[in-house]
Amino acid sequence: MLSTMQDVPLTVTRILHHGMTIHGKSQVTTWTGEPEPHRVTFAEIGARATRLANALRDELGVDGDQRVATLMWNNSVHVEAYLAIPSMGAVLHTLNLRLPPEQLAWIVNHADDKVVIVNGSLLPLLVPLLPHLPSIEHVVVSGPGDRSALAGVTPRVHEYEELIAGRPTTYDWPELDERQAAAMCYTSGTTGDPKGVVYSHRSIYLHSMQVNMTESMGLTDKDTTLVVVPQFHVNAWGLPHATFMSGVNMLMPDRFLQPAPLADMIESERPTHAAAVPTIWQGLLAEVTANPRDLSSMANVTIGGAACPPSLMEAYDKLGVRLCHAWGMTETSPLGTMAHPPAGLSTDEEWPYRVTQGRFPAGVEARLVGPGGEHLPWDGESAGELEVRGPWIASAYYGGADGEHLRPEDKFSEDGWLKTGDVGVISTDGYLTLTDRAKDVIKSGGEWISSVELENALMAHPDVAEAAVVAVPDEKWGERPLATVVLKEGAAGTDYEALKEFLAESGIAKWQLPERWSVIAAVPKTSVGKFDKKVIRKQYAEGELDVTQL
Ligand code: ADP
Repeated sequence: MLSTMQDVPLTVTRILHHGMTIHGKSQVTTWTGEPEPHRVTFAEIGARATRLANALRDELGVDGDQRVATLMWNNSVHVEAYLAIPSMGAVLHTLNLRLPPEQLAWIVNHADDKVVIVNGSLLPLLVPLLPHLPSIEHVVVSGPGDRSALAGVTPRVHEYEELIAGRPTTYDWPELDERQAAAMCYTSGTTGDPKGVVYSHRSIYLHSMQVNMTESMGLTDKDTTLVVVPQFHVNAWGLPHATFMSGVNMLMPDRFLQPAPLADMIESERPTHAAAVPTIWQGLLAEVTANPRDLSSMANVTIGGAACPPSLMEAYDKLGVRLCHAWGMTETSPLGTMAHPPAGLSTDEEWPYRVTQGRFPAGVEARLVGPGGEHLPWDGESAGELEVRGPWIASAYYGGADGEHLRPEDKFSEDGWLKTGDVGVISTDGYLTLTDRAKDVIKSGGEWISSVELENALMAHPDVAEAAVVAVPDEKWGERPLATVVLKEGAAGTDYEALKEFLAESGIAKWQLPERWSVIAAVPKTSVGKFDKKVIRKQYAEGELDVTQL
């Protein structure tokens, strides 16, 4: 029997309308580096997004599913693009402004972007690329920055504010199929070419609802969220859509992502929530340790994208800021797990749950697969590759304008689950603990050593600011861990034997203790601020590191 329910499509258009009407008074505040930040209400954003849609169609000829790219910081104009472009049936393509230029060009060409909306401050990145981007017909510039380099470029150039000024604030939004593409984001291509993940209206809608659930970020219109995670990194973890659904105020840092301005904006705007990768929180902690600021408004922070060291969580607990660990990927929209402990536990009992990656929401099914393809039990001990499926999990990668979508065997199982490439265990009550990425696991004498466990233990040492552990070739054992450490300012030299002893005392098995050590100035980071271990492996292989062997 079919249901008697209406079949109303789940679309970004609906999110736009809901936010601009029901939550019209909620605000997006963008940091400007000037005495006053820029403030705009959801109602105004809705009106401006509608003007943008009119401009894109009537002036720039976007009339179907053409890709409209953004090369922008987190700011209110970027939110307008987020809502307008999918709602008119086109596809928002967020570009990662930290990628090497050749990769950026590859991505724009692969996605066949027709228009790019760019922040003025990023023109020095875009303009030299334009001769290599034949599909780009229009460049739309927003915000401060020198325009002179644009003289003589081939695509037509528009000023965002002039382009949308005076356009109608109504639009005959098309009836969209909820399965249609709404937005796309390329993975940062840690291995091989970047891969395009294409989100549907339906996946964005359902994911936004999950983000808003109490068991996930649980925000309401009483909250203000500081969106540090870039809008080009998995749709800022879904926040721009989720906030429009629930009227959550947004605080956008624009290009002011250094620890000092972040601390300033938290102290003066008093957000209740924030979202970013661990590197950001490490930097902010060092900043407020040196120059104290009041972070206490920010009671609740979502931290993910890379493993959160427990020592970082403890340090923020002392500041009255609770870090909640989350796991996800570009392919999972990204919300995959969040580490809210189960009910009824004391603070001490909660701790072992908080340091896991968390548990899965109803929309994400998970299984662990062993090396022979067997499904492993959830017993907190059996380690395998995590596979997931659900309505906001990718089933393929974008195959290019003329190609079919791609389902590489190493990324998708035969029965359609996403192979995450992450290795871990799941407890009997459904909490995921990741021990490594499959490609970062250290295989020593047939046993696995978790690089993440060693890093977490090292980062708990009072002299260690950051630590990254990678596998290096070893004649006897196949592979052994190399520990690279960044010392805190003012730390008294390095005593590797003492660090090794510290690891042993914190419970690391003797055979897992690294014998190769190196102090480095900073851990190399990927374009989204994660430890870039392939760079460390390469530096080691090329003899660029000063390594001490104990
Ligand atoms: P990239 O693969 O280029 O880093 P993503 O942002 O999609 O791009 O990264 C997803 C990966 O990040 C996951 O597969 C996992 O390895 C890692 N990751 C994300 N969140 C966490 C977390 N909380 N703990 C450990 N690893 C994480």
